[in-house]
Amino acid sequence: MTKIHDISASVCLEKMRSQEIAVEEVVHSIFSKIEEIEDKIRGYVPGSLYKDIALKKAKELDKKIKKDGKLGSLCGLPIAIKDCINVTGTRTTCGSHMLENYTSPYDATVIRKLKAAEAIIIGKTNMDEFAMGTSTENSYFGPTRNPWDLERVPGGSSGGSGAVVAAREAMFALGSDTGGSVRCPASYCGIVGLKTTYGLVSRYGLVSYACSLEQIAPLTRTVKDCALLLNVITGYDPLDSTTLNRAVPNYLDALETDLKGVKIGLPNQYFSEGIDKTVKTRILKAVEKLEELGAKFDTFDFEHVDHSLPCYYIIAMSEASSNLARYDGMRYGLRVEDDGEWNEIYSKNRQIGFGPEVRRRIMLGTYALSSGYYDAYYLKALKVRTLLKNDFLRAFKDFDVIIGPTMPDVAFKFGELSDPLSMYLMDIYTVPINLVGLPAISIPCGFKNELPIGMQIIGRFFEEQTILNVAHAYEQNTQFHEMKPPT
Ligand code: GLN
Repeated sequence: MTKIHDISASVCLEKMRSQEIAVEEVVHSIFSKIEEIEDKIRGYVPGSLYKDIALKKAKELDKKIKKDGKLGSLCGLPIAIKDCINVTGTRTTCGSHMLENYTSPYDATVIRKLKAAEAIIIGKTNMDEFAMGTSTENSYFGPTRNPWDLERVPGGSSGGSGAVVAAREAMFALGSDTGGSVRCPASYCGIVGLKTTYGLVSRYGLVSYACSLEQIAPLTRTVKDCALLLNVITGYDPLDSTTLNRAVPNYLDALETDLKGVKIGLPNQYFSEGIDKTVKTRILKAVEKLEELGAKFDTFDFEHVDHSLPCYYIIAMSEASSNLARYDGMRYGLRVEDDGEWNEIYSKNRQIGFGPEVRRRIMLGTYALSSGYYDAYYLKALKVRTLLKNDFLRAFKDFDVIIGPTMPDVAFKFGELSDPLSMYLMDIYTVPINLVGLPAISIPCGFKNELPIGMQIIGRFFEEQTILNVAHAYEQNTQFHEMKPPT
């Protein structure tokens, strides 16, 4: 018999509403899975699971359902939250020693919305320190493991969220995507991850890594679940001046599978050197499937996309160096040193509080922003960013969606990419989307040696619905989303 934790969030929601199952049973089922395998996966930050609070909430909701009260749109669904999103009364560590003992005094806007929709927050998930990484190996709390193969990384930086959703330790999760951090774990863990158009989801309460690039984003087991969650978290927020005040559709109601007339563009640069052969074959097979379903495709060339990695890393590190300046042990963060001049105290706290990758990025970012180098690096990167945007705008004159791989290959082994540069190279297909601010989804589309492969579908600004529909059509006609990791 299918266990409750194995059914998707949307199916579970229907069953709770019709009182076929109780919210309390759902929470118990998820926690029984957590108790069974969390030791192996380590997707949650140690000490950041909230079973008692979740069960109490479940009981309240069960009473409400019985009374036939007005129910929230996510009523009773257990959700995991990446540990860089503030939830009142919980620790928000950002995977860092620097914030190990920081307790959030307020809710991020997305959390306020989740609570209003009656989702049940069950825990905070592990991540690369301050969201810097592609493997979750950079967490102060140690790495999370990929449920498909415990010797491999779950992807990053939202690796905890990706792993717990794939391993049935949560119905769905939130992550954040600055340069691919939701799409990468979705790809490596065989689930769905959507990075929205910049400005669609409020960043208020998200601990910043690189503000001009990032969005809080859903990780789910199906496209339908993604639409369900998206309906709740999107929208204008007076507390985040970068959110846009525009009407958003009901993504779930508007889901459809008819692809007639949809034009797909395949950028040659996304299928040339660097991509693994099996990954390439699987993506092209998926495109054929979409063609069978009514879409048409053609190839095209990007002019500047080859420059996106250096452009991304200069901008992301520059913004990070500025955003992380506040953690000095006096204003924010760990304080280990009280003796000496203020700058000696700052240095000591930052040296001990931050891990090596974060320190490297702060130094490189500070360098790129320093006078004398600003024009050569940061300003140049901003110009390249505009060129990239023009590349995509040109492509979207001919195509409705652009399709390519999410990652060049399947999940790698722990320690395999110990050189930071080779890890940065893994982000080649995801970072252009953040630089331009476009929406993109990653969905499972096959396997290589029993490890999931992700396909990336990129859309025009604010056309989340189009990419959701293409993804949904594909999912409805394939079985990859039904495959379960061996753990
Ligand atoms: N891997 C990229 C980086 O290290 C993306 C991280 C992210 O999206 N948070 O910056």
